[in-house]
Amino acid sequence: MRALVVEDDPDLIRQLSETLRTEGYAVDQATDGEEAMYLGEVEPYDVVVLDLGLPVMDGVSVLKSWRSKGRAMPVLILTARGQWSEKVAGFDAGADDYLTKPFQMEELLARIRALIRRAAGHASPVMRCGPVEVDTNSATVTVNGESIKLTGHEYKLLSYMIHHLNKIVSRTELTEHIYDQDFDRDSNTIEVFVGRLRKKLGVDVIKTVRGLGYRMEPDGEAS
Ligand code: CA
Repeated sequence: MRALVVEDDPDLIRQLSETLRTEGYAVDQATDGEEAMYLGEVEPYDVVVLDLGLPVMDGVSVLKSWRSKGRAMPVLILTARGQWSEKVAGFDAGADDYLTKPFQMEELLARIRALIRRAAGHASPVMRCGPVEVDTNSATVTVNGESIKLTGHEYKLLSYMIHHLNKIVSRTELTEHIYDQDFDRDSNTIEVFVGRLRKKLGVDVIKTVRGLGYRMEPDGEAS
């Protein structure tokens, strides 16, 4: 999953980005409203953490601009303590959730996980596909109840695929959602990760859809 973090406080943005990266997110950063607006328009994020008090252009205007252009990614706004009117303006502009500063990183992470799974149409944090079970809270994977150890990139890919169960996901889309902006992307590596995942999972749940990409579906369904 790929996140955009928009925050002008240098300590907080560093802390947010490090925490998210440790949790397995690909993270891009913006420190002013204009940069944020641009990135949110051109890059496909799975979630955005948006501070409202920003230089150049405020967060509410950035969010309004995204929504007016049809950008529908989940957005969690960060508001200052006691600024209830900011929250209202944020929600009216299209925010999906908020946190008031200061906040606990654990709470932010839990809210982000909930936003991402809701956006993908899942109510439960535990996602299943045939014998494969992914607990998106703990980032653990089991097959027929036995736990499987995955590398960071393998987990990112599997997590994205299982969030988008039964949908065709292209290699380009996978590349865009498991790497950040600065990563030297090579969509051939996706094929390598898929190969390794299939081997580790030991079951055929990631199908190749010729010429289009991949689809994760329970064994036995027509591909
Ligand atoms: Ca600020």
